[in-house]
Amino acid sequence: MNVAAKPVNVIPATVLQERGQRAVFCGLTSIVWLHRKIQDAFFLVVGSRTCAHLIQSAAGVMIFAEPRFATAILQDRDLAGLADCNEELDRVVGQVLARRPEVKTVFLVGSCPSEVIKLDLANAAGRLARAYEGRVRFVDYSGSGIETTFTQGEDSCLQSLAASLPVAKAGERSLLVVGTLSDVVEEQFIRLFDELGIGPVRFFPGRSAGDLPAVGPDTLMLLAQPYVGGAARTLIERGATLLPAPYPYGAEGTRDWLQAAASAWNVPADTFARVIEAPLARARRAVAPHREALAGKRISFLPDSQLEIPLARFLNRECGMDLVEVCTPFLDQQILSAEMPLLPEGTRLTEGQHLDPQLDRVRADRPDLTVCGLGIANPLEAEGLRTKWSIELVFTPTQGFDQAGDLAGLFTRPLSRTAKLRV
Ligand code: SF4
Repeated sequence: MNVAAKPVNVIPATVLQERGQRAVFCGLTSIVWLHRKIQDAFFLVVGSRTCAHLIQSAAGVMIFAEPRFATAILQDRDLAGLADCNEELDRVVGQVLARRPEVKTVFLVGSCPSEVIKLDLANAAGRLARAYEGRVRFVDYSGSGIETTFTQGEDSCLQSLAASLPVAKAGERSLLVVGTLSDVVEEQFIRLFDELGIGPVRFFPGRSAGDLPAVGPDTLMLLAQPYVGGAARTLIERGATLLPAPYPYGAEGTRDWLQAAASAWNVPADTFARVIEAPLARARRAVAPHREALAGKRISFLPDSQLEIPLARFLNRECGMDLVEVCTPFLDQQILSAEMPLLPEGTRLTEGQHLDPQLDRVRADRPDLTVCGLGIANPLEAEGLRTKWSIELVFTPTQGFDQAGDLAGLFTRPLSRTAKLRV
């Protein structure tokens, strides 16, 4: 495995591992941000009416504007094995492509029901690709909620795509940024990389499903978020090298993330300092008023988005918050190797979910703010505990210097709302 020359750091704390009842959204949720990013792809969920309801309510308003997602509903007969689901899938794909001839890539997204009946979507993708004679690409991945959390949907999607990326020739050095970024953030990073003389830079996924960057032994990789570890490993197997870095959340995180690429490209220190000086100062100024509101406040994270550790680092180091407990669904030490040493010594870390004991600890700790899933937030609010929905942290553009203030603002808002209600 190629990892740039930095030792993998050891966790600075004891990690409690818990397994039990979970309360998280499934990977289908990630279709909401993936379909906004990949603007010419269609996401066809192969699932039940429950899956259709989830995706329609998560993506809400978009159903009025020719959405690029749909659900091929598995009926009771399919689930009982009495009907050929593949015929139904072919029929729905035919309908979609007749209505949307501009679609060039169809993602067949598996669900809990399709996994339970062992519907072979890889086979179906191959059959459909042959039927459409290569005019449409079919890619399958799983968005099932069995033992997963919602951000894993993106990872599975990118992992499937990563396997089919073209091969870069040896000597073709490039930077690959892995993980969905909103277009505005992507453009900010393009400008900064350009000013630093780092390039060529490719983003994965790109805005078009056909925009497939080549990968090879001279591809250096930065991850835009910590939940694309599976895709990163597939790219590493294809020769790419991971640049260990903190994630680009907050002024400090963004600076260090850019620094990892700058070091790999041997950018002189004074050039780096000059290029980032103004945006770094802007980010610090934007965070400062939030720091006043957040400093000394206590925060707990329940395991949900996999963003918990980088956000805990940002809130502690840049906003002065005290970390009561940081729970994360999965703790991938390789992917988080540059983040772990930035947590304060002795941070209470928990990997995995066991809902009841975790809620008991939140009730005993009574933090000022708890970051958790939607389903848990309302009961905690009813008990007088302030919450932040973790899903908002994924739906909102939060990476980069110019988003640092907005990111901090996501945490001050629930606290200032409480203060206003009290008045
Ligand atoms: Fe529910 Fe599973 Fe469908 Fe997600 S994939 S909506 S968890 S049945």
